[in-house]
Amino acid sequence: MHRPTLQVVLVLGGLRSGSTLLGGILGAVPAMVTVGEARNVWRAYARNERCSCGASADHCPLWGPVGVELGYLGRDGAAPRVERLRATAEATLRLPRLLRTGRQLSADEMTLGSELARLYAAAAAHSGARTVVDTGKTPNLARVLAGAGVAVKVIHLVRDPRGVAVSERRAKRTPDGDSLVAPPQRTLPRSAVHWAATNSLVERELRTVAVPSVRLRYEDLMADPVGALDRVAGALGLEPALWPIELADESEPTVSFTQAHQLCGNPDRFKQGNVALRPDERWQSALAAAPRFGMELGLRPWMLRYGYAASRRPY
Ligand SMILES: [Zn+2]
Repeated sequence: MHRPTLQVVLVLGGLRSGSTLLGGILGAVPAMVTVGEARNVWRAYARNERCSCGASADHCPLWGPVGVELGYLGRDGAAPRVERLRATAEATLRLPRLLRTGRQLSADEMTLGSELARLYAAAAAHSGARTVVDTGKTPNLARVLAGAGVAVKVIHLVRDPRGVAVSERRAKRTPDGDSLVAPPQRTLPRSAVHWAATNSLVERELRTVAVPSVRLRYEDLMADPVGALDRVAGALGLEPALWPIELADESEPTVSFTQAHQLCGNPDRFKQGNVALRPDERWQSALAAAPRFGMELGLRPWMLRYGYAASRRPY
C-alpha cells in the first residue's frame, strides 16, 4: 500500500514567542499532530512527565504506545537508552554547537536526527496524522532533520522583542496549580541579545539548509489567525485546512483546542476547549521608558527587518 510521505512542520524561534499556541492550533487540524518540543521527549520519558492530555507519558494514549514501539518504555534496558538519547539531544542543541560554522553534521547530530525521524513516524502512525508539528525552536534542528532525510518545512516564528522581554519575567503555572515553570529571568539587555542572536541563528541556518520556510509574526497570527495560517500553508505547500478558529466576534477570534498530546513545552499546552486569541501587549505599560528606549535603539536593525516600529509613547 502506498503511504504518502510524512512531512514535518518545525517551528523555530525564541522562547515565549507563541510556539505552544501555534502548535496547539495546528494540532487541532485532523490531518496534523503536534508533538510539542520533540527534542525533550526523552527527558519526559525518563521522568514520566505529564502530557497535555493529563496522563503521564507511560499512560498517554499517544506517547504510551509510541514509547513501547520505540523501546522507550516497557522493556528491559529502556531507561539507559532513553537517558543516552536525552543526553545526546541536550549536548547537540547547546549554544556552542549552534555557533559552530562547519556544515558537517556530527555523529551526535546524526543520531538525534534519525531518532527524531523514528519518533515522528511513530507519532503519525499512532495518531493517524500525515503531518507532524514539532515546536522545538532550537535553530540547528532544521539541519539535523534535513540531514536525516526528514521532509521538513520550517515556520520561523518571530515576536516583538519587547513582548518577549516582559513575558520572560513571568512564571507560568501548571494546571494543577502546585508548580511553577520558572521564567528565564533575564535582564532586559540579556533578553534583547538572546532575541537577536536566536533569530539571527535561525536565519543563518535557513540560508544554509535547503528546506521550505516561511516567517510568521506572533502579532499577525493573533490579529488575523485565518489569514496568517492560510499564508503559511500556501508558502509551505501544506494541504489546505479548515483552521480551528471561530470568528463569531471579529475583534476576538476564538480557537477551539481539541485534546492534544504535547508532552513537552510550556504550561500553556494544557489549555483545552475554546480560548480567545488576545494579543499580549502588556509590554506597552510594563516597560519603563529608559530601558525601552535602550532596547529599541540596540535592536533597531532587527526590529526594522521584522516590521516592529519604535513605540509612539514618549520616552
Ligand atoms: Zn497525551
